[in-house]
Amino acid sequence: MTATLLEGKGLAQQLRASARAEIATLTEQIGRAPCLAVVQVEGDPASSRYVRSIGRLCDGAGAAFRLELLPADTSLTTLLATIDILNADPGVDGILLQLPLPPHLDAHAAVMALDYRKDIDGVHPINAGLLAQGRPAMVPNTPAGGMALLQHYGVELRGRRAAVVGRSAVVGRPMAHLLTMADATVTLCHSRTLDLGAVLRECEIVCVAVGRPGLITADMIRPGAVVVDFGTNVREDGSLVGDVDFAAVVEVAGMLTPVPGGAGPVTNAVLLGNLIAAVRGRVAGLP
Ligand code: NAP
Repeated sequence: MTATLLEGKGLAQQLRASARAEIATLTEQIGRAPCLAVVQVEGDPASSRYVRSIGRLCDGAGAAFRLELLPADTSLTTLLATIDILNADPGVDGILLQLPLPPHLDAHAAVMALDYRKDIDGVHPINAGLLAQGRPAMVPNTPAGGMALLQHYGVELRGRRAAVVGRSAVVGRPMAHLLTMADATVTLCHSRTLDLGAVLRECEIVCVAVGRPGLITADMIRPGAVVVDFGTNVREDGSLVGDVDFAAVVEVAGMLTPVPGGAGPVTNAVLLGNLIAAVRGRVAGLP
């Protein structure tokens, strides 16, 4: 068997196009372009690349983009004050706090300071809690993108057995909640899971977000299973690989995301959906 590749580029294009149209409508409605603010503490080149790509994404969609760039040695007081100003600014609809922060800054305190209604990456505990309760919430972009990809390719989730490998607050845990909300029966795996292969072989859907190249081998995958690889690992030669042994698993799985080109491209496009949801929440007068 050779798996069908779950390519994300086409879906990302569709999502960006529909977001562009919705943003144009909202711009007329509220009399200005919806605005995304990014708070970034200097020092991480990968972060800077990501922030530039978010700027281009907003530009292309007709949204306003505002960057609050703080020096690498910024204090927590300054960071929290910056977030407070953006929270209070009626011209700012969404706030993206670029993580990870340098070690001298308390990331939890910074996340707690966000207005959850503007929390475009769904990192605030109120959004995480709403999602865990199966209620409407700002959902972190990576798992939301993974779900969009599964839906786009018509993957049936109801009643299927699914495993998520990795339990981080931004990828694994929310992915497990989203799959549960879609009526899959979900097992959340992590570094202490005993016999990961035995668990995964039971499952028709496997989603992986660990950060270890080659962790998921072909013998762990049930023939015909759908495999979503969120892992992004940079090899010594600068190339990108996921957590799945792609060359071997592609021969066993029924569907598989390539890395790069699978879940990644969808992630950013989904962010525009959260920005739109943030504006609509306020337009509708939600608390
Ligand atoms: P993370 O916070 O480091 O979490 C990694 C998870 O993997 C942990 O839950 C850990 O278990 C689990 N794990 C580690 N070794 C394992 C093993 N041998 N078997 C099973 N589980 C194991 O990472 P993350 O932020 O979720 O990112 C994971 C991957 O997704 C990375 O490649 C990252 O680049 C990519 N990604 C991240 C984001 C993002 O927004 N953060 C977005 C897109 C893609 P324990 O909890 O037991 O330690």
